[in-house]
Amino acid sequence: MNWNYMQPVTIHFGEGKLAQLPEEVRGLGKTRGILITSPSFERRGLVSKITEESGGLIVCNYAKISPNPQVAECEECIRLIRENACDFVVALGGGSVMDCAKAAAVMSTADLPADAYMDGAALPETGLPVIAVPTTAGTGSEITSVAVLSDHARGLKKPLACTAFYPKIALVDPELTYSVPPHTTACTGMDVFCHALEAYWSRHHQPICDALALHALKLVLKYLPAAVADGQNKEAREKMAEASVIAGLAFTVPKTTSSHACSYPLTNLLGIAHGEACALTIDHFLRVNAAKDDGRLAALAKELGFADCNAFADSVAKLKETIGIMKDLSQFHLTNEQFEQLVQGSKHPNLLNNPVEISEDMLRGMYTKLRG
Ligand code: NAD
Repeated sequence: MNWNYMQPVTIHFGEGKLAQLPEEVRGLGKTRGILITSPSFERRGLVSKITEESGGLIVCNYAKISPNPQVAECEECIRLIRENACDFVVALGGGSVMDCAKAAAVMSTADLPADAYMDGAALPETGLPVIAVPTTAGTGSEITSVAVLSDHARGLKKPLACTAFYPKIALVDPELTYSVPPHTTACTGMDVFCHALEAYWSRHHQPICDALALHALKLVLKYLPAAVADGQNKEAREKMAEASVIAGLAFTVPKTTSSHACSYPLTNLLGIAHGEACALTIDHFLRVNAAKDDGRLAALAKELGFADCNAFADSVAKLKETIGIMKDLSQFHLTNEQFEQLVQGSKHPNLLNNPVEISEDMLRGMYTKLRG
């Protein structure tokens, strides 16, 4: 077996790490930064606090990033970066903010519009340094080379990937996740779970990522229900933040697979939150992959304390119920046209990373069951 592993992001983890931001910027030798975030952090006063405490290092901000960020928002960030001659980017938020900021930091160094990259243009090889500060646990975007952008007008949601997207520094401060509401905690926590499980079963799995995935899965199974039940539970929040970074490290090389492939049309067409969309199909694909298991999945199930993969999949279904996320699509009363769009949209390149080949008939069968 041949494998490679590369991880270029410096990670600082722990409560209160956000306060370290000015010191980290000075360490990079940069002087003019843009703070990119979402409206709730401006409302909570964090934008002005960070700007004031930066001692002049943050010179402008864009606090309008929406969930599933739009190419147009990325263009706005690029415009501000250029107008203010910024030389670094701070991304404070969930995956939506971090992805948009990472993309803007790289795309601002070249002349093409952000749209062009959605259509396949080669991404620039360098970008402004990004300091990523995640506020959900989460996507792991603070340590990945992926940025997912959407263009609602064209019905597009697309992961873009390039080495230049890796942030320079990740400041992972679990305290920032205390304010995440229960449903978002549940959705983002299941995204962590899917990253880890999909990394483990990906066709491109490798030993370092397997070990990371196992660690992250144990943490999610133990701490996610507690983090959803009580957002102020420090231990649960800290362990979920740890799981999120570790799962990010686990999937960034082997990439995600079937559940992520299906999540894109589920979010695009039905507006389902990213993590909830991934979670919808994860236990289904666990059963599909277990049916053709070479022993690796059975071993994982045992490591996690389950008798076999069926017991593992049953427990995932139960976990989804406990944390209150959707178990099928019955609430959407899917039209036949939507059903077909889901099937076709799920034939995303990530599907090819799944260990078992997923045919159109299999997708049809799965969505028929989920239609409710
Ligand atoms: P998100 O960033 O869209 O945030 C969800 C909601 O929670 C938003 O309304 C946001 O404002 C709010 N929020 C964030 N932090 C909060 C806090 N501390 N307190 C209160 N509210 C808070 O959700 P997400 O799941 O973190 O990111 C999803 C996006 O990331 C999707 O577009 C997905 O495709 C992408 N993604 C990227 C990667 C990657 O490697 N780059 C991996 C997985 C997913």
